[in-house]
Amino acid sequence: MSSRAFVGGRWWRDGAAFSFLVENRRIVAHGVDPSFADEIVNLDGAFVMPGFIDCHMHVLPAGLQALQLDLSGASSREEVLRRVRERAADLAPTDWVLAVQYDANRFEDGIDVGADELDAASGGRKTILRHSSGHACVASRSALLEARVRADTEDPRGGTIVRNRSGEPTGLLLENAMEFVYRKAPDLPPDQWPDAIDAVSATLLSKGITCASDMMTGQRGLAAELAAYRNAQSKLRIRLFVQWNRMFGKHAEPDAQLPDDDRLRFLGVKLFADGAIGSGTAAIYGSYTSGGDGTLIYPPEELKRRVLAADEAGYRITIHSIGDRSTDLVLDAYEACADPSKHRLEHAMLLSDEQIQRIRRSSIRVTMQPEFLLAFGPAYMRRLGPERAANLKRIRSLLDAGIIVGLSSDNPIVPGDPWTGIRAAAMRPDGFNQAEAISLREAAILYTQGAAAANFEETEMGSLDPGQLADFQLYDSDPIEGDGRLIATFVGGEQAWPKSEE
Ligand SMILES: [Zn+2]
Repeated sequence: MSSRAFVGGRWWRDGAAFSFLVENRRIVAHGVDPSFADEIVNLDGAFVMPGFIDCHMHVLPAGLQALQLDLSGASSREEVLRRVRERAADLAPTDWVLAVQYDANRFEDGIDVGADELDAASGGRKTILRHSSGHACVASRSALLEARVRADTEDPRGGTIVRNRSGEPTGLLLENAMEFVYRKAPDLPPDQWPDAIDAVSATLLSKGITCASDMMTGQRGLAAELAAYRNAQSKLRIRLFVQWNRMFGKHAEPDAQLPDDDRLRFLGVKLFADGAIGSGTAAIYGSYTSGGDGTLIYPPEELKRRVLAADEAGYRITIHSIGDRSTDLVLDAYEACADPSKHRLEHAMLLSDEQIQRIRRSSIRVTMQPEFLLAFGPAYMRRLGPERAANLKRIRSLLDAGIIVGLSSDNPIVPGDPWTGIRAAAMRPDGFNQAEAISLREAAILYTQGAAAANFEETEMGSLDPGQLADFQLYDSDPIEGDGRLIATFVGGEQAWPKSEE
């Protein structure tokens, strides 16, 4: 087996000279004499950093979105319609045109594209443009008709069908009204899912991400999704948390073969305990400014029953819990397990000091998504009031308590560039308590080593220690102190981005 010496690099944490030897996809040693190697790669002073690990995102869903028409940067109505026309030209007449990153705020007059204009541009194909905020869309007349959205259609609860003076829907659908058309829109067929996974993987590798966790595997069927992940060609490492319902109960797929190799690995079982703050559905103590205290997905006994079923079957568990009321119930359930330290908590956005101590005592690992503060900060302030919202995401307090924290994105909820999340953790946006900020360096460590630990793989990856997988990124200068730019991403000692030109 051949070995590769990487020489002439600099270690990202202190700029010191850094060379290392890779054999069989792993780091064998640091500072090694290159004459031992079959091949020598000169890093020319590049800063070497472990690959980012996005320990909470949604890989296939992000991929399915990646295959949609991307309207980023389309700054006029004409430009949007031109791109829709081009996309439509490649499609069969019955295909839908699905687009993302539409935003009329970029237009000079700020006026949205109309339903009938979309039909004209798409040749009558059903078309939906999703707004970049995710909270609105514009649908073509044909899509509205398919979804039976007409002048006499009532607005749904929590949603608005925008209408013109004569009461006719304009095409613009807000919040829950989007469901009318998205419910009718087709999902990509399973034989194209591997391409979707490869499309998003290429983007992740271009951001320095070498490992990504899919947090809801099985939503579209477990065996089908596992097949897609197996058939994907990308070098990106993928970790899977499978929905509880696909492992237990009447929708379970007990015959599905759970993967366990260093490219694709099943990590555990995922449960939801509550909703989100922006929609007023995270279960909190007290109440939202708009009233209500959120929604528990399961009554406490049922949550505990599900946790114990998975624990007794020998699986790791991770639970989505955003509100403090919900998090107490999750901790109750974990504390009933033989070894709570096997398990993990997602988001935990509202935490009391007492809850932080409970997490510490049980050695439960936690993931945080700091980019949420940028994307949804104003909504959090509105829903919780500024005082309560200021203390969301207590990363500093968790670290000071000695708790393992992994940073991640929740892509495609947010775009998910790790540096955006790292900066948000270090420079919390205005209105958020700066006492919970961490340094850029700490945040970068939580997106590598911390995220590896959140995946229970800290011996496998995240710090480039000898013995670990050789997953790393190269920067042209210091990425923390300076403005280093990513120049290459390596997985298992092989360049995964940019792809070589052969
Ligand atoms: Zn998620």
